[in-house]
Amino acid sequence: MPKTSSTLIKKSLSKLDPCPIFIGGKWTVPKTSKTTSVYNPSTGQVIAETPMCGADLVDQAVQDAQRAFADWSETPPVERARILFRYKMLLEDEFESLAKSISREHGKNLVEARGDLRRGIEVVEYACGIPELLKGEVLENVARGIDCEMVRQPNGVCVGICPYNFPALVPMWMFPLAIACGNTFILKPSEKVPLTGIRLIELLQKAGLPPGVLNVIHGGRECVDALLKHPLVRAISFVGSSPVAKYIFETGNQHGKRVQAAGGAKNYVFVLPDADFGNSVNGLVDAAFGCAGQRCMAGSTAVTIGKAAERLLDPLSKAVKSIEVGPTDREHGQRMGAVISSQHLDRIKGLIDSGVKQGASLVVDGRKVQVKAEPNGFYLGPTIIDRVQTGMEIAKEEVFGPVLNIMRFDDLEAAIEMANGTPFGNGACIYTQSGKAAREFKHRIKAGMVGINVGVPAPLAYFPFSGWDYSFFGDLHLQGKEAILFFTRAKVTTTRWFRFGEGDIWHKE
Ligand code: NAD
Repeated sequence: MPKTSSTLIKKSLSKLDPCPIFIGGKWTVPKTSKTTSVYNPSTGQVIAETPMCGADLVDQAVQDAQRAFADWSETPPVERARILFRYKMLLEDEFESLAKSISREHGKNLVEARGDLRRGIEVVEYACGIPELLKGEVLENVARGIDCEMVRQPNGVCVGICPYNFPALVPMWMFPLAIACGNTFILKPSEKVPLTGIRLIELLQKAGLPPGVLNVIHGGRECVDALLKHPLVRAISFVGSSPVAKYIFETGNQHGKRVQAAGGAKNYVFVLPDADFGNSVNGLVDAAFGCAGQRCMAGSTAVTIGKAAERLLDPLSKAVKSIEVGPTDREHGQRMGAVISSQHLDRIKGLIDSGVKQGASLVVDGRKVQVKAEPNGFYLGPTIIDRVQTGMEIAKEEVFGPVLNIMRFDDLEAAIEMANGTPFGNGACIYTQSGKAAREFKHRIKAGMVGINVGVPAPLAYFPFSGWDYSFFGDLHLQGKEAILFFTRAKVTTTRWFRFGEGDIWHKE
């Protein structure tokens, strides 16, 4: 009987063995002395060990994916869609247990974990329409008697390298569309949260995906470098921090790969004095503290104009002080969970300290929050820092934790100028009742994803996830039609046939 990843994971958990890789349709636990611990952030306990694979296992995975490409790329799109349709049904059947897996290894609460998975399933639903999405173009008589057609063909072996903060959604941004387009794929989940990704692929195997079409490998820089440089890899999708995204983009390009690399962010939430303050407070709390601030779309800075700060601070502080912090792996309420690791916790606390030292004022201080039920969990309470100035470390760095900066400006013009002068360009939003201000903001703000009277909005599966500047390296974004273009290449055929009856004699025979 073939081993499933679940049986191997159960074995792993009891002994804290490495978690399995998936090559050529088989799950195996690689023998390697190098591992990274996977924690349950709610308790601080190690729940698994991720094997850090090197170039030898990467080569096996790539060779296998290359072999599988020959048949998979010839499989009719509608047959590929049927497998994805079965996959979608299996994901729905396992929805709650997958959400619990996300919550356990990441620390986000179950409501957030369900959102992580639901948005991923929406990409699978979009990918089920692949016969329509893959249609090409044709024009008769580009010159007399000459026709031209364009079809899109798959790239070959594609790779996905993922961050820790969306254990389901980010891998699902990548592999469903890649395989729907006829590519084979190698998934490298984050070494900090590999367990949900393994389960996602086990379900795809159950849905009938042929061996070798999707492979899973684990590791860090050594593994990633081997993928980036392997001659048979054609395209790389990456999501993670900006310095690594830049490195992936440059190294991948040097080795002739097509690369899309989404990076970090610093997203601004503008609040004008005429805003609906109830709506703004709710939006800000959700944007800044959802998933304990560990989202590339976190609204980490409130940019207040004129008297908006005075009107905002009281209700905002009240709302933030009422946020309950605690373990998310048992009572699945809407409490805010822990951050990913003790190192990350220390880094965030260090950034808060630096803000205070550089003259910002703490309105709500989450550094001393203690969760008695779980003293070893990686907890930080929600924090608000007011009067943050451009140039402070906390204003420049992506904090990636439950910390909201407040910056004050006299007018919209100066605030837009500040936001547009920073390197990132992921998302931004504005709360106002002025159509004129909203229009000005939408048109001029330097960000690829913009919200008006909604928190920093992550676009749905049929739109591109369209970061700019230091938040994205490449041309074609993840999700939507841009993803279809990324995972295929165009072939244009120009055909000339002489007119029926001209030049040939066969029709007379
Ligand atoms: P990370 O950059 O540390 O790691 C991402 C991936 O890169 C992991 O798989 C890791 O193994 C690999 N990696 C790490 N260092 C590497 C190196 N030196 N060389 C090669 N590979 C390396 O990111 P993270 O901490 O896991 O995730 C958080 C970051 O991801 C944040 O910056 C967040 O904004 C960003 N993110 C961006 C988006 C987006 O759409 N723009 C979405 C989610 C997360």
